[in-house]
Amino acid sequence: MASQAAARYARVALDIPGADGFDYGFDEALRPTLTPGVWVLVPWGRGRRIGLVAELVDDTPVPADRIRPLIGTVPSAPQLPASWLNLVRFAAGYYHRGFGEVALPAIPKLFRAVPPVRARGSAFERARQRGPVALSGLAEPPGAPSPDRAAPALTEAQCTALDALQQADGFRVFLLHGVTGSGKTEVYLQWIARLLERGPDAQALLLVPEIALTPQLLAQVAARFPSQPVAVLHSDLPDGERAAQWLAAAEGRVRLVIGTRLAVFTPLPGLAGIVVDEEHDPSYKQQEGVRYSARDLAVTLAAQCRVPVVLGSATPSLETWRAGTLGRYTRLTLPGRVAGGAPPRLLCVDPRGRRLQHSLVPEAVAAIGACLARGEQALVFVNRRGYAPVLCCDACGWLSRCDACSSYRVLHRVGAEGAADAGPSRYRLVCHHCSAEQRVPRSCPDCGNVDLTPLGRGTQRLEEGLRALFPAARVGRVDRDVARRRGAAREVIDAAHAGALDLLVGTQMLAKGHDFRRLTLVVVVDPDSGLYSSDFRAPERLFSVLMQVAGRAGRAGGDSTVIVQTRFPAHPLFDALGRQDFAGFAAGQLEEREAAELPPFVHQALVRAEARSLEQALEFLRAARAAAVAIDAPGVRIFDPVQMPLVRLAGRERAQLLVESPARPALHRFLDAWLAALAQLRTPVRWQLDVDPQEI
Ligand code: ADP
Ligand code: ZN
Ligand code: ZN
Repeated sequence: MASQAAARYARVALDIPGADGFDYGFDEALRPTLTPGVWVLVPWGRGRRIGLVAELVDDTPVPADRIRPLIGTVPSAPQLPASWLNLVRFAAGYYHRGFGEVALPAIPKLFRAVPPVRARGSAFERARQRGPVALSGLAEPPGAPSPDRAAPALTEAQCTALDALQQADGFRVFLLHGVTGSGKTEVYLQWIARLLERGPDAQALLLVPEIALTPQLLAQVAARFPSQPVAVLHSDLPDGERAAQWLAAAEGRVRLVIGTRLAVFTPLPGLAGIVVDEEHDPSYKQQEGVRYSARDLAVTLAAQCRVPVVLGSATPSLETWRAGTLGRYTRLTLPGRVAGGAPPRLLCVDPRGRRLQHSLVPEAVAAIGACLARGEQALVFVNRRGYAPVLCCDACGWLSRCDACSSYRVLHRVGAEGAADAGPSRYRLVCHHCSAEQRVPRSCPDCGNVDLTPLGRGTQRLEEGLRALFPAARVGRVDRDVARRRGAAREVIDAAHAGALDLLVGTQMLAKGHDFRRLTLVVVVDPDSGLYSSDFRAPERLFSVLMQVAGRAGRAGGDSTVIVQTRFPAHPLFDALGRQDFAGFAAGQLEEREAAELPPFVHQALVRAEARSLEQALEFLRAARAAAVAIDAPGVRIFDPVQMPLVRLAGRERAQLLVESPARPALHRFLDAWLAALAQLRTPVRWQLDVDPQEI
């Protein structure tokens, strides 16, 4: 970077892939104001764009006659704190993207939009007028238990954890490990309260996987900090609201920010501490654009700002767990549920050769019946939405394949449950990958047979089955289809809380953060695909989901049961699950991973390519591989290009190339050289790099 007095050009970050910045000249009068992080308006082609000054430079590779002057600074824009710029710079380096590619998407849309020439007041001035409100007025999660305003007296284990957090001075990573209901949230909240007491400018960041699924957490925060202005940031917010909250955080007008992964990029000039709840959750990893991990960036942010960060989970990611074992992270353990009560009893039942009723084993049917008779609630978990995963012709074997993807279209029921007409018009075939939809054919497209059979079961079919088996029970369903209708999933969950539902059917969405006090039975239908999958992370995910689902049962204490219908009842995963033995499960997994040289023992990066034909994608990756091999990179292993597990998606064929190294710095040095070489390969193939890929 040049000294500001001498620099002749402003390097401006724009939301354009590739370059770190674009160089502009500037009017001498602007010199004192042009520091990194300042918002500027620049000419771009025939239009204009908003950008951020990345740095001032003496020299530019751009020929002098092509340099244009920037138009000016953006009025009343906030000063972006150094912590924000440092985080963006780190992310750009780590994920191998341009500074602007990370910086601009991290800014609310309204602040990136070029204002119309005659706009009244800037976007910033307008955003300052909506302003944030105290959470108690903002979100009133109905149906959630109304907690005491005062914090409860902590248990001994909670005290120990809170003491350790409070004593941390400067950067330190804590892993707060405890089952659902063990009181982790209480520890977060009390710690945050102490952080905010440190000074009028202190701010805290609380990351959660998904806002819609955490009404109880919001209720708890609202009750605990009734007058504290809180920003809640997530991708479903209207643009104006998101802009207002982001700005209020950047200007220190809110002290606590709760948000999903994108909230890690909230400018927080007074940051004093960070909590990442459910740190293992895959949704912390962005799956498009810059594929960052908000959990990992939160740790970096804490390091850069020299503040403590708490990663909380009942089932930490194996990366985090190992860091705890190695002593890099400080492990704090909450040993059991606050409310006490034994963990649920686990019963694995092999469905093969059994007389199933609506795909439920007799033990499950009996247990649900008994549970309902006691006036308690039961939950049936199946991780598959829709009616049936595939429609099939018994005569010729036709299957409802998707034209555009290498997968099947899922049979979905449309319209209300229990309607009299059950004809084919009440169903649709939907691809879960490309969202293509079609009517259900009246007869087999191949042979004309009119008897088409749904194979397997999704949430809708289970719901139908449960209604048939238990006609007196009040049944509710929660999955992504229900959640698509605004507020609908919440309605079902609230009804369950209020005791207006007896039986719940749903996917993973039901597993998260809900406190159903009368729930004493959980039935898990067919989790087997998670046991033997090509994805080495599948067992880790399955264990985590099952721990969460099992954690729904018996939260008020008393006996509870989890029945798992599986063809592999002797699988060690279930054994560990039955004992709620995460440590044992993790040790076994880590041993396997070490033997197979998989993460966290190696660090990986993946180039994914997509093209019209698989051959085209593979050809590009073969060239990419040749370029990789030509780089002198000791300790970096380069695999062969292979097709992706879901090879065809929305009409594009996809392939991938994996590289890995036991040493992170070696991998990143290699990636720098490799990406420079890849930029030289002229190709019509679309490709992107994924650092630390979560799905392989
Ligand atoms: P987790 O985040 O680990 O799932 P929570 O912090 O939400 O656990 O605690 C579970 C339940 O126990 C909540 O209803 C909470 O209000 C309650 N709770 C937590 N800590 C205490 C405590 N020390 N005394 C009494 N109740 C508590
Ligand atoms: Zn047929
Ligand atoms: Zn499709």
